[in-house]
Amino acid sequence: MTPQQKIEILQTLIHIKSVNAHETDVADYLASLFAPYPQAQIEKVPFAPGRDNLVVTIGNPAGPQLGLSGHMDVVAAGDETAWTHPPFGGEIVDGRLFGRGASDMKSGLAAIVITMLEFLEQGTPLAGSLRLLATVGEETGEYGAATLTDAGYADHLAGLIIAEPSGLDQVVYTARGAIDNLMEFYNAVGPLMAKYTKTDPVLGGLLHNVDLISGGEQVNSIPAHAELMANMRTIPAYPNQIIYDELEALIDRLNQEPGVQLELSYSYPEEAIPGDPQAPLVQLAKQISDDVCQHETQIVGSGGANDGAEFLRAKADFTSIEIGPGSDTSHQVDEYIELDDYLQAIAFYETLVPAFFAQIGQSSKRQ
Ligand SMILES: [Zn+2]
Repeated sequence: MTPQQKIEILQTLIHIKSVNAHETDVADYLASLFAPYPQAQIEKVPFAPGRDNLVVTIGNPAGPQLGLSGHMDVVAAGDETAWTHPPFGGEIVDGRLFGRGASDMKSGLAAIVITMLEFLEQGTPLAGSLRLLATVGEETGEYGAATLTDAGYADHLAGLIIAEPSGLDQVVYTARGAIDNLMEFYNAVGPLMAKYTKTDPVLGGLLHNVDLISGGEQVNSIPAHAELMANMRTIPAYPNQIIYDELEALIDRLNQEPGVQLELSYSYPEEAIPGDPQAPLVQLAKQISDDVCQHETQIVGSGGANDGAEFLRAKADFTSIEIGPGSDTSHQVDEYIELDDYLQAIAFYETLVPAFFAQIGQSSKRQ
């Protein structure tokens, strides 16, 4: 595939307005790219109408399976007039491709898809199988990853690479900070509810009590999940919808901050990502990124939840990492990706995949 063709695939993805919905349009487009290869096993896994996850499996089914994952949804563009480059235009200026999702994370998604397409195109023999796990609803609660995990699509993974926009000079081995993020909500919700001062002659005032906070497992392990439960009783002067809207607006506002991912009434039992910076896949990704990109890759923890937290509920015992092309403009106006970073990401994944299979092969021989 030429660099121009790779860029066109990313532009086509940016043109699809998969804003917290319509991921099926992305899934159908990606599936069409794999359609010429009968050896690719293509499955659409529905979450809701218009919201299909996509699973594509290639390679040697007798060997270990490596998952490559990316979400197909993007956050809203906000005030489109504030953008210098239209959010769904995919315009290229001075080596940067602009658009919602250019960084988070249609460039990463395109890069892992192209990695698989090039293996197919070139007939590259693979010692194991590669499974694309393209998800819906990551930005609003990892619904797609939950659906795929529940349906068993992660049960045979030996490793998972999530192409979130870490930048290729960072490999993320854990999610953390769930309690800190939750406390931001806790600190904000009290004053917010205190605004509602009307009282009802029979029922009294609006009741709001935080009754339960839970999260974490032990003192030296960073929790990926925390929960807060509050009891609220509304009065006729303040119908439930007013309170729902208020709480949702607060959650939306807090979620604009990097690494914060709060959800209302979503109590799925996410596991904490174990997070071992010495895990072979973490070390391998660092070494290959250092070599391919000629930079020093940092091994870091992340500030927020991601699809990995869901996939790790699967039966298999594997390491999940996040590494992918990105810029610091995710979720912002004039989001962009440097085209050089995007093309370099493809070269990185194409090197990492066979190296991973070689690493797994060696460790199973030692046992
Ligand atoms: Zn993302």
